[in-house]
Amino acid sequence: MTEQPRMNVESFNLDHRTVAAPYLRIADRKELNGGDVLTKFDVRFTQPNHTHLDSEVVHSLEHMMAEHMRNHSGDVLDVSPMGCRTGFYVLLVGDHSVDSFAPVLEATLRDLLAADEVPAANEIQCGWGAHHSLEGAHAAAREFLDRRAEWGTVSAG
Ligand code: ZN
Repeated sequence: MTEQPRMNVESFNLDHRTVAAPYLRIADRKELNGGDVLTKFDVRFTQPNHTHLDSEVVHSLEHMMAEHMRNHSGDVLDVSPMGCRTGFYVLLVGDHSVDSFAPVLEATLRDLLAADEVPAANEIQCGWGAHHSLEGAHAAAREFLDRRAEWGTVSAG
């Protein structure tokens, strides 16, 4: 790959060939005019351009993390799947580090493993209520948790 021009989106400036999933990293941190800080995490489940999560699994993980994570932190603003289906972005209010967020994520995923349903997986509360996989979400969360020791290592090099 030739040198790419600098782009507006942080992750577009990340060389996805050099990362080693699973990992957790800060993708962005923004200080607002009032002095408050927002922190955005890149929560990468699968190795970019090699593997990805099934669409139903991404969707169920999104619902489950969005709901359960708010039991562990009052700072959660958003949990969104990446379009490439290799992970999620988590946006938090406040100045957070990987070390402070990792226990929140771990507790969230342990809740998820103990849950016997995907929250809001119905036509009233979701845009595609039938498009879910509890089993798939459990398997992906279990694999991600099994590799907890690797979360802090972003680069393969
Ligand atoms: Zn949904």
